[in-house]
Amino acid sequence: MSDCLFCKIVAGEIPCGKVYEDDEVLAFHDIHPFARVHFLIIPKAHVASLADCTTGHGMLLGKMLLLAPRLAREQGLDAGFKTLINTGRGGGQEVFHIHIHVFGGGDPVKRS
Ligand code: 5GP
Ligand code: ZN
Repeated sequence: MSDCLFCKIVAGEIPCGKVYEDDEVLAFHDIHPFARVHFLIIPKAHVASLADCTTGHGMLLGKMLLLAPRLAREQGLDAGFKTLINTGRGGGQEVFHIHIHVFGGGDPVKRS
């Protein structure tokens, strides 16, 4: 997806503050954090949203979700964190490459 912002980040065409990387997954700091710690976990392969996932994405989604507590701990969120997956325009999604927001720290944050 040549016009996808997060595919460009995966390709190294746009820099990011990397938190984690393996052959399938990339995690990086959100450019407009809404908490002291706020990073995104994305698959390297383009999938537009959670609504575009099928059972074949199950392992990948599980891997992304299970990375959240590990990376959150590594980022100092020992007391806990929030996760958020915006899906579709009505769900507030702005970048159509699926991502899990992981955030916390500082003042309590709420976002619906
Ligand atoms: P969404 O609203 O789609 O769930 O979230 C997209 C997130 O991507 C937003 O929190 C936004 O701040 C973040 N974002 C947008 N452009 C960039 C970018 O170029 N680099 C990084 N690191 N984050 C971005
Ligand atoms: Zn993409």
